Amino acid sequence: MSKTCLECGEKIVGREDKKFCSDGCRNAYNNKINKDSTNYMRNINNRLRKNYRILSELNTEGKSKTTRAKLVSKGFDFDYFTNILQTKTGNTYYFLYDQGYMVLENDYYMLVKKDI
Ligand SMILES: [Zn+2]
Repeated sequence: MSKTCLECGEKIVGREDKKFCSDGCRNAYNNKINKDSTNYMRNINNRLRKNYRILSELNTEGKSKTTRAKLVSKGFDFDYFTNILQTKTGNTYYFLYDQGYMVLENDYYMLVKKDI
């Protein structure tokens, strides 16, 4: 049984498990697959990076307080974070990599840095 190249449809000669007729076709095919998610992922990664940058700027001491207004004015996007940490005492920390924040009363935010 002859197989055809997933990229160009040409008949493939050679090994049974080959999916492409050439390296060029394999690269072209893989590039197309990667491209579909690239824009979406790039946007999210940019937001995560921006959030991280903002927290790093505001939290130079490793622990500090700020306000929601200050975060918003710098363009912080509260929808994006890398993970959530619930403490035994019932507090919720939102993390951007090793920079995190916790919501305090009256629109204040506690900024923390994780020890890694
Ligand atoms: Zn091909």
